[in-house]
Amino acid sequence: MEAYDVVIIGVGHNGLVCAGYLLKAGYSVLVLEGRSLPGGGCTTKELMPHEAPGFKFNPCAMNHLFIFLGPVIQELELHKYGFIQGSRKFD
Ligand SMILES: Cc1cc2nc3c(=O)[nH]c(=O)nc-3n(C[C@H](O)[C@H](O)[C@H](O)COP(=O)(O)OP(=O)(O)OC[C@H]3O[C@@H](n4cnc5c(N)ncnc54)[C@H](O)[C@@H]3O)c2cc1C
Repeated sequence: MEAYDVVIIGVGHNGLVCAGYLLKAGYSVLVLEGRSLPGGGCTTKELMPHEAPGFKFNPCAMNHLFIFLGPVIQELELHKYGFIQGSRKFD
């Protein structure tokens, strides 16, 4: 069985950011998510496929724009991993 320094159970944005910083600091991290898609409340999903096919929403959190007030995007180099600001790629 493989051993990890840290196990994070449930990966909403807080767990994901935490895992990112731990990895950057050199720790080995295992993330376990109960759903098929990581992201928790900030996941983007097609919530109303019949009423609004093709339109995707955040199920719970809409204030993640505040991420721009801190250094997370730059420090974790999220643009390298597909981070998109609005309709364009963040650079
Ligand atoms: C109805 C509602 C409306 C909201 N509206 C807003 C809003 O407008 N603006 C705003 O900023 N915030 C809003 N919030 C709050 C916001 O969604 C949360 O603060 C945010 O999602 C918390 O992030 P998190 O990463 O801590 O956990 P979450 O996003 O809750 O993610 C937790 C993850 O852990 C997983 N998990 C849980 N238990 C287990 C387990 N035992 N095993 C494996 N996986 C597990 C879940 O599947 C999930 O993916 C709202 C919340 C709700 C419920």
